[in-house]
Amino acid sequence: MPFYIVILGPPGVGKGTQAKILSETNKLAHISSGDLFRENIKNQTDLGMLAKSLMDKGELVPDDVTIAMIKDRISCPDCEAGAILDGFPRTPAQADALEKMLAEFKGQVDKVPYITAVESVLIERISGRWTCRANGHVYHEKFSPPKEAGKCDIDGSEIYQRDDDKIETVTRRIKVYLEQTAPLVDYYRRRGKLVEIDGTQPVEKVTELLLSALKK
Ligand code: ADP
Ligand code: AMP
Repeated sequence: MPFYIVILGPPGVGKGTQAKILSETNKLAHISSGDLFRENIKNQTDLGMLAKSLMDKGELVPDDVTIAMIKDRISCPDCEAGAILDGFPRTPAQADALEKMLAEFKGQVDKVPYITAVESVLIERISGRWTCRANGHVYHEKFSPPKEAGKCDIDGSEIYQRDDDKIETVTRRIKVYLEQTAPLVDYYRRRGKLVEIDGTQPVEKVTELLLSALKK
């Protein structure tokens, strides 16, 4: 049976960082809705144009197109064993749609690690985040700087600050998270899937907490 993990938590808490590590150690696909939108923006698709106009304001992309994009991705052969979802679902309607689509693959959301940190930590992490142009590899100017300034260690491409990581947009994104995504904490708690993880710890420690929570 396929195994699906949803990583839940506010913007900047470290979902992508942990999802990448977990996907490598568990040989599961990593699906990041934000990365998929950024790829669409890079390729100048219609979805990319729509997503950019909303992302730049810190708003969510509408459920219908987001759900369709994830359905396409999760149907790919590399997701047969399951996947780690990062940034999706972000609304109760997306969570309901996910439940339905996984049932088609005879699967379900198995565990939902919920990574937490206070707002000042989120702002510090987002303000220092640098992302690689070619493949979305993530750095932090203070906590995980690249070996050579301005360059991705892995593929050598330029690293840049995302437009929506600028402070004006970050406060809106956190508000949108609290209004539209935070209800998913209860949604998954009621279903007995939620495990809380203290995201204020260093990356390696958070990974340790996550791995032990997933074993239970
Ligand atoms: P999210 O996917 O939740 O938005 P990221 O994984 O992109 O968050 O992390 C946000 C920023 O914080 C990145 O610059 C990343 O390098 C850094 N980061 C992630 N986890 C930690 C941690 N545990 N301690 C310090 N910095 C972290
Ligand atoms: P992220 O890379 O997860 O920080 O997401 C960046 C932006 O992409 C968000 O602020 C939203 O505008 C958009 N986005 C990502 N995932 C979703 C989703 N599941 N639903 C709606 N919008 C999303």
